[in-house]
Amino acid sequence: MDTERKSIPETLVDFHVHLFPDKGFDAIWKAFETVYQVPVLHRLYHGECVDYLRKRGVGPMVYSNYAHKQGIAGPMNLWNRQILDSTEDVYCFAAFHPDDPDAMEYTEKILDHPKVMGVKLHFLIQTFYPHDRRLYPLYEKILEKGKRLLMHIGTGPIGSNFTGVDFFKNVLADFPDLPANIPHMGGYEYRAFMNLLDAHNNLYLDTSYSFWPQFPGSFDLDNGFLEDHKDRILYGSDFPNIILPREDEIEGLLSRNLSQEFYDRVFYENGQRLIREVCDAQHVC
Ligand SMILES: [Zn+2]
Repeated sequence: MDTERKSIPETLVDFHVHLFPDKGFDAIWKAFETVYQVPVLHRLYHGECVDYLRKRGVGPMVYSNYAHKQGIAGPMNLWNRQILDSTEDVYCFAAFHPDDPDAMEYTEKILDHPKVMGVKLHFLIQTFYPHDRRLYPLYEKILEKGKRLLMHIGTGPIGSNFTGVDFFKNVLADFPDLPANIPHMGGYEYRAFMNLLDAHNNLYLDTSYSFWPQFPGSFDLDNGFLEDHKDRILYGSDFPNIILPREDEIEGLLSRNLSQEFYDRVFYENGQRLIREVCDAQHVC
């Protein structure tokens, strides 16, 4: 058996970071404390987050934010534009809310930004279903522009009436080629989401919140599942909204003693390739 200690690449691509305007972060951190009753480890605002990760070997990073109510996605995307234009090697899944009368207008504009990877939908927080017909124009636009979605649709770490793989399958029935990243490895329905990777070539999973050895509900499938899908898994930290150290999750993955190719692809090559495909395709990044 191969017992040689593996390593992560010197430069990492982090495909799941959050950057919000300060007020947004304040509200989220309060919710972690009062609603989820677990404080986040890092109360760092956007500039501090980027510096923190850069000092720890993160090169390209893809962040997201989302609108928990009507009326704020438009202004948030103006803020996103400023961040993208002033911060090197940072990419973004932008905000969207289907109840905004100008939703498709601001979406069309922000998707044209070369450093916008696509749009984030957070079904737990935004409380609508992925097969909600109000989202279909967005899905069509994403396909048309060659961009992607980051869809928090899994039942973990916290589920609701709006989350679960079956709802997501409804969308895939109508959009089998939907280019989507599913955070948290699709937890807690790990196996079902892994199976979807085989049937739908444009899906990726990210590792956030899934490999802390001390976290209940962590990824519980064999290494074979990870090796078989090593081209379709992206490293993501969920920084700064994490409740346990990001290093522990990296260590959790290393302690599984996967192949060196797994670590090289998941922590760097896959992320780099997607950024190149989606953003560099516009030649301006
Ligand atoms: Zn997240």
